[in-house]
Amino acid sequence: MTCARCENLAEDVRFRSRGELFRAIETVRQALANGDVVEVDAGPMRGVVAFSDLSDAGPLDDLLLYRFRCPDCGQIFVLGAETYHGSGGSWGKSEPLGPP
Ligand SMILES: [Zn+2]
Repeated sequence: MTCARCENLAEDVRFRSRGELFRAIETVRQALANGDVVEVDAGPMRGVVAFSDLSDAGPLDDLLLYRFRCPDCGQIFVLGAETYHGSGGSWGKSEPLGPP
C-alpha cells in the first residue's frame, strides 16, 4: 500500500556499490526533510550509527538497517546494506514489525 506522498519511494532499489548506497541515503534524507517519511525503530537489527550521522567519509557498521514509515498511509520502507563487502544493499517496501 502506498499513496501519493510515498509512491515515488515505492520502487525497489538495489545498491551494488557504496556510491549507490549513499545516493540512496541522500534520497531518503531528502524525503525525511520533506516529511514524506519518518524514521521508525528498525528493531534489534537496527544500525548502530544514527541515520543522520551516516557519512560517506566516516566509518559504517558492517550491517546497516533503517526503517521508515509514510506518515499518510503507514507504508514501511527499509534501507539495508552490508557494508563489510563494500556492496550489497537495498531499499524497498516492507511489512510492519508488529502492531502500530
Ligand atoms: Zn504513503
